[in-house]
Amino acid sequence: MVSIKRVCVYCGSSDRVDAAYRDAAVRLGTLLAEAGIELVYGGGRIGLMGLVANAALASGGRVTGIIPAHLHDAEVGHHGVSQLMVVGSMHERKQRMFEMSDAFVSLPGGLGTLDETFEMLTWKQLSLHDKPVIVVDVAGYWAPLQQLVEHVVAKGFAGAASLGLYRIVPSVEDVLPALAESREPAVSPQPRLV
Ligand code: AMP
Repeated sequence: MVSIKRVCVYCGSSDRVDAAYRDAAVRLGTLLAEAGIELVYGGGRIGLMGLVANAALASGGRVTGIIPAHLHDAEVGHHGVSQLMVVGSMHERKQRMFEMSDAFVSLPGGLGTLDETFEMLTWKQLSLHDKPVIVVDVAGYWAPLQQLVEHVVAKGFAGAASLGLYRIVPSVEDVLPALAESREPAVSPQPRLV
């Protein structure tokens, strides 16, 4: 079983979304804290980002937020987290989030969430890491993502193995069981072409 101490959660910064998505963020933050797993996230106080962080904190969890200086005001950097790292660029933010985390979980979100999720998938495809990536299909939100990847594979732009780079689960209740079932990351993954 994989040892998971820190989980990076990618999710939307919008507040104007359905209650089902907001509830999922709260529940995931609570579940991570109750499991003694540290939350690593983008450091904002708004949208699902703020909800997941506040829920983890409310349940006694440790939360690290990583936010670039130029977004610090726009996303209202969360000063109540256990550790807020203000970094110089988006690239540095994503690199630090990647390095700190044992696994990645994507909740519903917008273009930023898509970028972050696909970055972890493309790096995994290139064997730059072998950490679990879990996509939480809250109320079917990510069905189009799955269809898109299947389309990419069907048209020959990626191998079928690409579908195995991530796991889609139907709800946040399935995240910790899915992580527990994940295989141990390879110690030194070798870059490969797909
Ligand atoms: P969103 O899913 O668009 O609400 O954004 C979620 C998070 O992704 C926020 O913390 C954004 O700052 C971040 N983000 C937005 N756009 C990008 C991008 N192009 N690359 C990386 N992260 C982004």
